[in-house]
Amino acid sequence: MSTTDQVYPPSAEFVAQANANAEMYQRAADDPTEFWAEQARRLDWATPFSTVLDWSDTPFAKWFADGKLNVAVNCVDRHVDAGKGDRVAIHWVGEPGDTRDLTYGQLKDEVSKAANYFTAIGLQAGDRVAIYMPMVPEAIITMLACARLGLTHTVVFAGFSSAALRARVDDAAAKVVVTTDGQYRRGQPAPLKSAVDEALGSGDDAAPSIEKVIVVRRTNHDPDLPWVHGRDVWWEDTVEESSFVHEAEAFDAEHPLFLLYTSGTTGSPKGIVHSSGGYLTQANYTFHNVFDHKEGRDVFWCTADIGWVTGHTYIVYGPLSAGATEIVYEGTPNSPDEHRHFNIIEKYGVTTYYTAPTLIRTFMKWGKEIPGAHDLSSLRLLGTVGEPINPEAWRWYYEFIGGNRCPIVDTWWQTETGGHMLAPLPGVTACTPGSAMGPLPGISAKIVDDAGNELPRGEQGYLVLDKPWPGMLRGIWGDPQRFKDTYWSRFAEQGWYFAGDGARYDENGALWVLGRVDDVMNVSGHRISTAEVESALVAHPAVAEAAVIGAADETTGQGIVAFVILMEDAEPNDDLIAEMRNQVAVDISPIAKPREINIVPELPKTRSGKIMRRLLKDVAEGRELGDTSTLVDPSVFEAIRAQRA
Ligand code: ATP
Ligand code: MG
Repeated sequence: MSTTDQVYPPSAEFVAQANANAEMYQRAADDPTEFWAEQARRLDWATPFSTVLDWSDTPFAKWFADGKLNVAVNCVDRHVDAGKGDRVAIHWVGEPGDTRDLTYGQLKDEVSKAANYFTAIGLQAGDRVAIYMPMVPEAIITMLACARLGLTHTVVFAGFSSAALRARVDDAAAKVVVTTDGQYRRGQPAPLKSAVDEALGSGDDAAPSIEKVIVVRRTNHDPDLPWVHGRDVWWEDTVEESSFVHEAEAFDAEHPLFLLYTSGTTGSPKGIVHSSGGYLTQANYTFHNVFDHKEGRDVFWCTADIGWVTGHTYIVYGPLSAGATEIVYEGTPNSPDEHRHFNIIEKYGVTTYYTAPTLIRTFMKWGKEIPGAHDLSSLRLLGTVGEPINPEAWRWYYEFIGGNRCPIVDTWWQTETGGHMLAPLPGVTACTPGSAMGPLPGISAKIVDDAGNELPRGEQGYLVLDKPWPGMLRGIWGDPQRFKDTYWSRFAEQGWYFAGDGARYDENGALWVLGRVDDVMNVSGHRISTAEVESALVAHPAVAEAAVIGAADETTGQGIVAFVILMEDAEPNDDLIAEMRNQVAVDISPIAKPREINIVPELPKTRSGKIMRRLLKDVAEGRELGDTSTLVDPSVFEAIRAQRA
């Protein structure tokens, strides 16, 4: 990966209409308090705030602390009150092809009904509600109804096991689970409610905090759906029957809006707590500027699942607080076939498309003919999130999906940060493929060594966030010590947030996120990043995806072990392996040549599409697998082990 690669400036046409401008950086740096206050005023406050940041109890921040607002009113009612009730909020597309459009007016009615029912069953502000649902509108309605009542929601991927659900219900002491009877998986209904029954147990084993399970009818696949009388109710008999008139109350800016468990890529998941006012400010600010959102014109699509933070911030709170029209799609990108996303873009005139690098690499594997068969001219801006994007994938995305016309925003952030932190500003930044470019206006980041010294361009170190920001996590649920230890102890003296990622500025000042600090490999004393070796492998035309880890090695300290998925038409043989190793030697250095390259059919990934390198390391070093609760498909290890045997 050469950092002097071609740079992609925005077109004059894009610049002329962009929401963001270069002057924001300076303004935010000169007076961050005023800058964030201005962003917060994009929201409607029932009681305006008079203080911006209280950082006296570091690392427990308070933002806009004496202000009060209702998050759901900001996401729904205020648009209706402004005469936009007929605007479509959500174009929903079900996996089997059924569709449903919800206007802001309809969304308000639905959220109000759910809020009335939740109140009727005795839920009160501060109670926790678990949401275990596929991507159906009721999932979003439930999140907003919780926000409306000051209930703290915790969304659990509907792909997770009953054990993972139970662990989260217990940790959060949730009173209610909202779920569906079943969910579609590649055209077939699969049970979901039964996983809830298994999770919640019965008798002595029953989840102690649970009072109700609310079930949305989605697949209708089982006429004898098991039912616990007194605990289980149908959404259609309860929420649907409730009044659509609901008076919302305002809550403190610091009221906990949700807790969400991290992906578990580096260890066991952590229950991250987010606030109301600060979080929504960050969501709205970044949505407006990074996605250059134009109200009433854009059709936005974030392809994430609401089970991870990207779905929270860029399907629910960012777009809806901005009055956006967006796509919500229930299924996978290849049901019924690989054209699905492109059909949706074409049909709804999607302007802004936000996805994960793993999907772009999958599209590359499927071939450019697939996007090429569609009119994608409505697109004007593309984005990525979740992992570093390989420069090769970036260029493919730019050319074959963006038609060489759309800026790409590579957004670095975490569950903990609440919203985008590092990203180019479209219309301002000239992008280097593979780089997240730098901190957004108002955000401050440094790359430092162990002692906290800032490193010069070209040297890799730890990524730290050295100033608080509104969307920052307020803690780990029930575990203030783990909160301090994980994020604030490494640079305690300086009071910096330790992100856990390695990074480097290149000679032009563009910031490259190089992967997890724990994943940085040490080969004969050379520090080599997993992301760079992976990008070199992916640059080989036969390679679709690559995951690289450093495995203990007697002679070199660590040896580089690669796991590679080939393009559909590639022929695995020794020559190809030699070519791949050579590609790494040429692109990076002979030191970075993998000791071992395994051709595998699949890689272990989280539901959010991240490669779980720590599990590959367990395999390479012959250990038992660590926490696999957030893995999509544990059976991938059979194929990987078979390949290595
Ligand atoms: P856990 O903290 O439990 O290990 P996780 O870190 O995978 O899980 P998330 O909060 O979903 O959980 O992921 C955040 C991480 O994803 C970041 O720390 C970073 O490593 C990676 N990431 C996200 N976006 C980008 C990006 N644009 N470029 C590079 N890395 C990214
Ligand atoms: Mg993390």
